[in-house]
Amino acid sequence: MTDFARTRAFFDLPADVIYLDGNSLGPLPKSAVQAVAQTMQKDWGQQLIRAWNSAGWVDKPRQLGDRIARLIGAPAGSVVMGDTLSIKVFQALSAALALRPDRKVILSDNGNFPTDLYMAQGLVGLLGKGLELRIVEPEAVEAAIDEAAAVVMLTEVDYRTGRLHDMAAITEKAHRAGTLTIWDLAHSAGALPVDLAGAKADFAVGCTYKYLNGGPGAPAFIHVSPEHAEHAEPSLAGWFGHEAPFSFETQYRPAPGIERMRVGTPPILGMIALEAALEVWDEVDLADVRRKSIELSQLFIEQVERRCPALALASPRDPARRGSQVSFRFEHGYAAMQALIAHGVIGDFRAPDIMRFGFTPLYLRESDVLEAAHILERIMRERLWDDARYMARSAVT
Ligand SMILES: *Cc1c(COP(=O)(O)O)cnc(C)c1O
Repeated sequence: MTDFARTRAFFDLPADVIYLDGNSLGPLPKSAVQAVAQTMQKDWGQQLIRAWNSAGWVDKPRQLGDRIARLIGAPAGSVVMGDTLSIKVFQALSAALALRPDRKVILSDNGNFPTDLYMAQGLVGLLGKGLELRIVEPEAVEAAIDEAAAVVMLTEVDYRTGRLHDMAAITEKAHRAGTLTIWDLAHSAGALPVDLAGAKADFAVGCTYKYLNGGPGAPAFIHVSPEHAEHAEPSLAGWFGHEAPFSFETQYRPAPGIERMRVGTPPILGMIALEAALEVWDEVDLADVRRKSIELSQLFIEQVERRCPALALASPRDPARRGSQVSFRFEHGYAAMQALIAHGVIGDFRAPDIMRFGFTPLYLRESDVLEAAHILERIMRERLWDDARYMARSAVT
C-alpha cells in the first residue's frame, strides 16, 4: 500500500495553497533543490567538463528513461530522455511515417493537443509526398482507422476534458489495418497505470513536468517498441544519436536501439531535478494512485455539482473513461478561475470555457478537495468572479 502521507512530505507545498494544477506543472520535490545545488556546485563547479564522465551526465538520458519505462509499462532500454515533447512528437511521427512509406494518412483527433497537430502539419509540409493529416472526433477514431492510415497519433488523456482513450483497443484495431500507433502520455505518465508493452504500442512520447514533477521545461521522453527500435529512422540525426558520437565522423550512423532518438547535448540541470523527482515513485504503486485519484475526483464532482449549479461537467462521468483531471464548463470560466486562484485554490483554464482541475494523490488529500469545493461555491454564489481584476487575460492561462 502506498503511504500518501509520506509522498506528500516529499514535496515543498506553499501552506496557503490547494494545488489542483499538478497536471500542468507538478510541485517542487524537496530533494530536487539539494540535488541541483550539488550538481551545480560540486559537479559543474569543481569537476567542470570532467563531470560528463565522473558524474555520469552522459548516461542520464538513458538511465532516467529506464526509470520512466517502469511507470509506463515499457521494457528497459526502450525509453530515452531529451528535448521537449513537441520535438519527441516530431521524431516519433517522422519515424512512423518512414516505416509506412506507401501510406499517406496521419490520423488524429480534435481532442489532441495543438502542438501535436502542429508538428504533424509542419511535417506534412516538409515531406510533401501527398501526406495528409486527418482529424476526426475522438469517438470516431476507431472507425476511421483504415489501410490508408500510416499512423494513428493520439493523446491518451484529453488535455481539456480528461477523456481517456482505450489504448489497447485502438492499437489492436490499428495493427489489424497495418497502421502504427503513437501515444502521447503527457496526461497519463504518473497519473494512471499505462501498459505500453501489453497494448503493443509502437511509439509513445510524454513530458515530465506534469504528473512526474520534473520542473518547468523538464526533459521529455520517447519510447520506441523493441520491434521497431533497430529500424526506426531518426529524422533529427544529432551527434548524440550517432553510434559513436566521439568518433566525430562526417557521416551519420544511427546508434543501436533507442539511443538513436537522442539529438544533442542533454539538459543536465533539468535531468538532475527530474532524477530527484522520480525518487518518490520507488515507493508508489500506480494502482493505488489510480484508486485514490478516482476517489478524489468523484468527491470533487459530487461536491461541485451540489454546490455550484452554474458549472457543467465537461469530463466523462464514468471514472473509467477519465484520466486524473476533472473539467467544468462555465461561460465566465477564466474570471472564475482567476478568482479561485486569488482565494488560494490553483487550477487552470482552457479556452473557450473550461475550468480544469487536476487530482494528484501524491500530495492531495480529501480535506483539500472538500475545502476547494467550498471556496469555489463561495466564488460562484457571491459572484466574486465578476470583477475587472479577474477578467484581464495573462499570457499563460
Ligand atoms: C503538455 C502537452 C504538450 C506540451 O509539449 P511541450 O513541447 O512540452 O511544450 C504536448 N502534448 C500534450 C498532449 C500535452 O498535454
